[in-house]
Amino acid sequence: MAGFDFSGRKVLVTGASRGIGRAVALAFARAGAQVAVHFHRQADQARETLAAMPGTGHIMVQANIADPAAVEQMVAQVVDRLGRIDVLVNNAGIYYYHPLDECSYQEWQSAWQEILGTNLIGAANVTYCVARHMMSRRSGRIINVSSRGAFRGEPRATAYGASKAGLNAFSQSLAQHLAPYNIYVMVVAPGFVETDMARDILDGPEGEAIRRQSPLNRVARPEEVAHAVLFLASEGAEFTTGTIVDVNGASYLRS
Ligand code: NAD
Repeated sequence: MAGFDFSGRKVLVTGASRGIGRAVALAFARAGAQVAVHFHRQADQARETLAAMPGTGHIMVQANIADPAAVEQMVAQVVDRLGRIDVLVNNAGIYYYHPLDECSYQEWQSAWQEILGTNLIGAANVTYCVARHMMSRRSGRIINVSSRGAFRGEPRATAYGASKAGLNAFSQSLAQHLAPYNIYVMVVAPGFVETDMARDILDGPEGEAIRRQSPLNRVARPEEVAHAVLFLASEGAEFTTGTIVDVNGASYLRS
């Protein structure tokens, strides 16, 4: 990726077996970083990410981010094997419909627990373990992958919208709390992105209308989200700490 130099930097990207996480891992590797490719269940796909990355010394680490003990072990492993973590990208997340007017109370409970447990509490777990390490070094960057849905609404995936709004608030509070440690916390908020997560929706009857939400008549490519992540993690972007950068092709405007 032109313009960014992360030579010698150590980066942990969660959910990097595919989609946006894979694009972020590849972009950091192309910019010279050594990357820890975190995955949950898809070891084969994580290996493909690793194989596509230029440079040497990249590693793969496994954890369910909703499991606090697994996260602690995973972060310790990355610190042990890479020596340190300069940049954390909290990208792992899940999305599925759970409309209130169609769900049983039990389905509603499990959707809220699973989606909040992964997208918000999972990210908070990884952040805690990595931030404690960064604090000891008084240096670091944390970039969280949120969503346009936090602002625009997610009528059929309310827990998802709430999880991403929570992630935004968490990131902004943390940007204030961690500033004295020279740790900067930023957010990217993509609209729809061409990944497996959104494939069924984008290939379905709603797809055309979704693409038309942007005057560019398309959704984002994962590489475009990665570009924003690398900018926020780059040298010189420190004073953007606490920001939320939209990557939505002007499909939803806020000011
Ligand atoms: P994806 O489904 O392709 O990838 C999600 C990744 O998260 C996978 O690698 C998966 O293994 C990992 N993951 C899920 N649950 C996990 C768990 N419990 N523990 C560990 N890892 C787990 O989706 P994507 O589109 O690449 O999404 C990446 C991020 O971008 C997510 O946070 C998502 O909410 C956000 N986002 C996506 C879109 C979109 O349209 N695709 C739009 C806005 C925001």
